[in-house]
Amino acid sequence: MAFWRSKKNDSSDESTAPETPSASSPASGEEASGGLFGKMKTGLQKTRRVLGTDIRDLFKAEGRLVDEDFLGELYARLIRTDMGAGPAGRIRDRVAKDFRGRVVHLEEVVQTITEDIREQLKQDHGDLAKADSPPTVILVVGVNGSGKTTSIGKLSHHLVSQGHKIVLGAGDTFRAAAVEQLTIWSERIGCEIVTGPSGVDPASVAYQTTEKAVEIGADYAIIDTAGRLQTQGKLMQELEKIRRVIDKKLPGAPHEVLLVLDATAGQNAISQAKGFSNAAGCTGIILSKLDGSAKGGVVLPIREQFELPVKFVGLGEGIEDMTKFDPDTFTAALLEA
Ligand code: GDP
Ligand code: MG
Repeated sequence: MAFWRSKKNDSSDESTAPETPSASSPASGEEASGGLFGKMKTGLQKTRRVLGTDIRDLFKAEGRLVDEDFLGELYARLIRTDMGAGPAGRIRDRVAKDFRGRVVHLEEVVQTITEDIREQLKQDHGDLAKADSPPTVILVVGVNGSGKTTSIGKLSHHLVSQGHKIVLGAGDTFRAAAVEQLTIWSERIGCEIVTGPSGVDPASVAYQTTEKAVEIGADYAIIDTAGRLQTQGKLMQELEKIRRVIDKKLPGAPHEVLLVLDATAGQNAISQAKGFSNAAGCTGIILSKLDGSAKGGVVLPIREQFELPVKFVGLGEGIEDMTKFDPDTFTAALLEA
């Protein structure tokens, strides 16, 4: 345990300390409950257990010789977090380059792993898009059950607590329950919602939501959609139509198309993201349910294979259980004690 703790001290001395609030910096109001770092750490507990315990088990108190056996074992343990062959291979190679033939301690290796993961997770455009003039229109897409509606609730709460005015659009018109679910969120948050009768064309709800947002001077319109697969041609066309009518009402919108991926789906999430990001013109990812997964390493292949930034992560079902994705904080939360 001591190793992990001292690593934390090391990293806080670095000049490249994360800008985002961490455990050592006072949390902003929006992250009052334990801060971003604490929240991520708690949410990532399952992955932390796998990664931490497994890697620690590779070491004896007197250290461990970095040879082929060690490198193979390290690789196998990294893979268990679902980070994939590419990222795990790169970490193994870097550890080999730095330490091969030497006896090393856990701390040194963890530091190298941390640096490498941080580099691999670096991304541009991680912030939520903002229209030149409001409203910013956000469309939320993904497969059934991935966490779209819940993520919209959490994101909306986050934005409202920052003082923004928002309108929700109940664009999942397939199921009455979906409209109800979003309505309940809107009541909890205290924001406007646009709904249509069950079965109505979701494009019309999207249009009206955008219209409403313009009308009342909202900062954001966030539009829910029914779950779909990239292989469902008709539903993908429907999404295209939704985009088209939003753009018709407000040229340039939607400004953000967020793909919600379920972290518990592991590597499957990656193939979902591929199809969707191409077909739906996605601009960013919300990785939901990281709290329920021991495979939080999946964010690495997602970053590796897509141009899409991960913008938010879901860390539970509660209204506060979502944070902005920050690579430095995420990595620290994954590996520090
Ligand atoms: P949708 O079909 O994509 O709209 O998915 P929902 O938002 O209805 O979520 C499906 C289930 O996943 C619900 O039971 C949610 O409470 C749950 N869920 C969503 N996000 C998270 C999360 O970040 N963590 C956990 N543990 N559960 C989540
Ligand atoms: Mg839903």
